[in-house]
Amino acid sequence: MTVVGLDDTDSRETGMCTTYAAADLAERIRDAGGTVERLLLVRLNPAVEHKTRGNAALAVHTDLDADRAAPLARETLDLAQTDDPKTNPGAVVADCAPDGVPARVADFALDAIREIQDPTTATLLADTAGFARFQRGDGRGLVGALAAVGAWSALSDWTYEHIAYREPERWGSDRCVDAESVRAAADSRYPAVWDTVDRASGYPVCVPRTPCPILYGIRGDDPDACRAVADAIESEPVDRRATFVTNQGTDVHLQDGTVETVADDSAYRIDGTVAAAPETREGGHVFLSVADGGERPEGSRVPADPGSDGDARLQCAAFEPTKRFRDRVRALRVGDRVTVCGEVADGTLKLEKFAVRELVRTEPATPTCPDCGGTMSSAGRGQGYRCRDCSTSADGKVDRPIERDLEPGWYEVPPVARRHISKPLVRGGFDGMTHPER
Ligand code: ZN
Repeated sequence: MTVVGLDDTDSRETGMCTTYAAADLAERIRDAGGTVERLLLVRLNPAVEHKTRGNAALAVHTDLDADRAAPLARETLDLAQTDDPKTNPGAVVADCAPDGVPARVADFALDAIREIQDPTTATLLADTAGFARFQRGDGRGLVGALAAVGAWSALSDWTYEHIAYREPERWGSDRCVDAESVRAAADSRYPAVWDTVDRASGYPVCVPRTPCPILYGIRGDDPDACRAVADAIESEPVDRRATFVTNQGTDVHLQDGTVETVADDSAYRIDGTVAAAPETREGGHVFLSVADGGERPEGSRVPADPGSDGDARLQCAAFEPTKRFRDRVRALRVGDRVTVCGEVADGTLKLEKFAVRELVRTEPATPTCPDCGGTMSSAGRGQGYRCRDCSTSADGKVDRPIERDLEPGWYEVPPVARRHISKPLVRGGFDGMTHPER
């Protein structure tokens, strides 16, 4: 078996795309008499800024000998538009089975999804493993190429994307896809197929806006259902199509963290307590802070002055493009126990989803008089409360119920704002109730 990893053949300006390059390589391999067992689309760390938005790397699993696959991989790199200085493609050809790569290469794959890796490490590791490698530009693409080689061994949760490509002469022009047929097809196969359409806005999430060769990509847990949805879409002619096995929709980028230990450019799942109430700022972005730990602050159920103690805080944000998700974030209150998930950049966690673990249900209030119903007044420091008119008294504040329009469980951004690698709640497997967006 041979595994060919490819990365960074994307170019914003000229519309090349790594999935297209992989589909093209698969065709060359078949033309050379090989069988393509699997096309792998691996989403790497979404925090890597110098990459195009998706940060995708690709692997082709084939029975063609590595010696014969290598020149084909090199030709594929030449497809990449290296005139674009931001495009630095790389390819790695491994002469082993996809699940037989060295453990260090598998570890490298997971690291490239969760942290930031450098080309030097990738080069050394590929050479140590005895893999052939090819690069153009500064070789940054070797990182993704090697990660794509190691991914099959490193990961266990996989989904599918069926991608239809445009005729080359149409690249860069407006796409012709019938939105109604997309909606109907998506509805008929949900939830085996997800993130096809954003139902609230009607936006066809499966149709990209970039000048890349992709006409649409149908994602889901069942490759046949993805294919069936694609078949039902009315559109301009499809030039070629391919089904990818992918780590999209798996949350594999998230690592368990704490408010104290998070670092920029990685993504985390953190248990905490809301320490500063949600606040909507200019541009419609919503911010709140969480403090570490699953326990509520000492003393009253609602901390009196959440800004005053020395606990570490992590600012979390739901940005404007997350749309209705912001209403769920705004509904949080100080003292709620939550789990927040998202990438940390500039010390702020960009919320992708959160779980409500326990809601604050009451707040301390001045008691009311049982006789006249009026609000009691303080009887003096430490003396409780009393009603002067009725001579009734109470020992202290009482718990007044708060109306909450949140329930325990997981909430997520809508499909239109989902990161490729984020797991839609509808896929299941979450610890708690879920409130899926579709
Ligand atoms: Zn009274």
